[in-house]
Amino acid sequence: MIIMKKEATQKQITHVASEVKRHGLRPAISEGKFRTVIGLIGDESQISFTHLATLPGVKEVKTIETLHKLINCEYSELFYGKGENSTIKMGGIEIGGNEPIFIAGPCAIESRKQLFRIAEEIKMAKAHILRGGIFKPRSSVHSFQGLGALGPEEAEEALSWLRDAGKSFDMPVMTEVRGESQVDLIAEYADILQIGARNMYDQDLLSKVARKGKPVLLKRHFGASIEEFLSFSEYIAAEGNKDIILCERGIVPVGKGKSLTRYTLDLAAVPVVQKETYLPIMVDPSHATGRRDLIFNMSCAAIAAGASGLLIEVHYNPAEALVDAEQMITPEELKRIIIASKRIHKVVIDKN
Ligand code: PEP
Ligand code: MN
Repeated sequence: MIIMKKEATQKQITHVASEVKRHGLRPAISEGKFRTVIGLIGDESQISFTHLATLPGVKEVKTIETLHKLINCEYSELFYGKGENSTIKMGGIEIGGNEPIFIAGPCAIESRKQLFRIAEEIKMAKAHILRGGIFKPRSSVHSFQGLGALGPEEAEEALSWLRDAGKSFDMPVMTEVRGESQVDLIAEYADILQIGARNMYDQDLLSKVARKGKPVLLKRHFGASIEEFLSFSEYIAAEGNKDIILCERGIVPVGKGKSLTRYTLDLAAVPVVQKETYLPIMVDPSHATGRRDLIFNMSCAAIAAGASGLLIEVHYNPAEALVDAEQMITPEELKRIIIASKRIHKVVIDKN
């Protein structure tokens, strides 16, 4: 990691970056409020740190001995300055700040009417961000794949409903990007780009999404270790995009018998990630449990573990949802969760 002097000029930064490239590495340039920091991506043995340290404009060269370097707390301090917060601010909300943030909405957007009604009701329940799937990852080709699968016109129409519902009820909107070909279109409409659990390992998708410069919510793959989860989130940071929201959504259950939950919610991931990185981490109790009767308790537990917020699937009539009906809760239940979560979050914040 190359830390530039506060007064380093653009010319000096460009020169350092070209030196890095000349040795076969890629420079990840992060322009902070206080200084520019250049991360080295690639085989560091190819370059002499002493040489880099003598280049004009360079303050110092530091090595970070962890797999995840760009999302490390130490790096953040250099980038943002000590004591400066690294929260994500958008549309009047702050992710990773003093209040828990609630992302809610249907699993899949089914119609304009369905989306607007859910948007209105989650807003009344005091949710902050509206979510809805348009390109759905499904295990079977025979199940509803989301409106995006019907064709480009249907996809764009659904995206415009999502944007309009967000505007009408004053909420940023988020939807999943499942493939590289969808990135440009979705980025025109969504405020937060979601990478689903199945695509956590798709490094080209991560990089392309990151380059849009919009906040990215990255879900943990259900078979990924925490280290892999963090390591892949660095593909986003490496593009200079620091607005990364991590999301724990459960990992594959162990043992032979029935697990009785869809996945196993790894809540220890929350405080661990917070110790290792400066990124906010949210929890999705909906996909983790797959059961509406467990959402309240696991939401409270996630907030108690220190989560920056929750991602919850909501429908005014869960039984009629085309996807994930069993885990969908009503807006009234969401309201109860938000009230309880705010109280628990306060206890956690006060303790820290
Ligand atoms: C979703 O949030 O709609 C979803 C499909 O979740 P996951 O990627 O965690 O399975
Ligand atoms: Mn779902």
